[in-house]
Amino acid sequence: MRIFAPLMCVAVLTWPAAATAQGYISRLLNKPVPGGVAVVALGQAPQAPRAFLDDNRVMVLRDSDQQWIAVVGIDLKTPKGKQTLTVQDATGSRQTGFNVGSKDYKAQHITLKNKSQVNPDPEQTRRFEREYKEQIQAYSQYREVIPSNVSLDKPVNGRLSSPFGLRRFFNGEERNAHSGLDFAVPQGTPIKAPADGVVTIVADYFFNGKTVFVDHGQGFISMYCHLSEFMVKKGDEVKRGQVIAKVGATGRATGPHLHWNISLNNARVDPAIFINAFKP
Ligand code: ZN
Repeated sequence: MRIFAPLMCVAVLTWPAAATAQGYISRLLNKPVPGGVAVVALGQAPQAPRAFLDDNRVMVLRDSDQQWIAVVGIDLKTPKGKQTLTVQDATGSRQTGFNVGSKDYKAQHITLKNKSQVNPDPEQTRRFEREYKEQIQAYSQYREVIPSNVSLDKPVNGRLSSPFGLRRFFNGEERNAHSGLDFAVPQGTPIKAPADGVVTIVADYFFNGKTVFVDHGQGFISMYCHLSEFMVKKGDEVKRGQVIAKVGATGRATGPHLHWNISLNNARVDPAIFINAFKP
């Protein structure tokens, strides 16, 4: 023990010189800000390492430069500064880090006539809490399937309306920031899966209205809400380009639009990154 204990301390305290991620996926996705994505180079071992941010398993892919990369979702509430990833491979467990920069998100004021959607009554609150738990559970899933693609097709063709991360005030009261990206498209517009996946939720929720979750593998999960019609059911396997639902205005919505969330390691991140429309 006397021999090994100091060695273990060294391994924890110093990060090995990190290789730089320079492949195709890194160039596309590396936007290390709150609500963004950090691509962290993990080296070139024959076997894929495992990576964790806190308790959440993180996506690990092989990039075009043959290097393993961790594709880490950064929660919107993450402070500026250094974050630590735990990496496990054949040689054991080590830590590596990445830096989170800052990003300013704008404010949006929304007026809702239905006051219960601003301040739900106790029964509605209980319903929302139950539904919230169900959604967090779906976001926390990690399937050992490599996503078919991480550069995504737009689920609908339309103008981007509300961007990700807007600080939202409903009738003057601040609520959670906008966790997804909105597309202004007419009622009934078909919504296509932007990558292969498995449908994990088909439900009608208090705030999100009619909602579909698609699990694309390795904790890469998309959500579609305020839908008018479902074209899939829970457990269905869907292919990239397959119609999964139609646009509507169900739940807390001021009119027909698609609200689209993307999640990595249970962190909601800016979907614009994945369709190459990110604005710094
Ligand atoms: Zn939205």
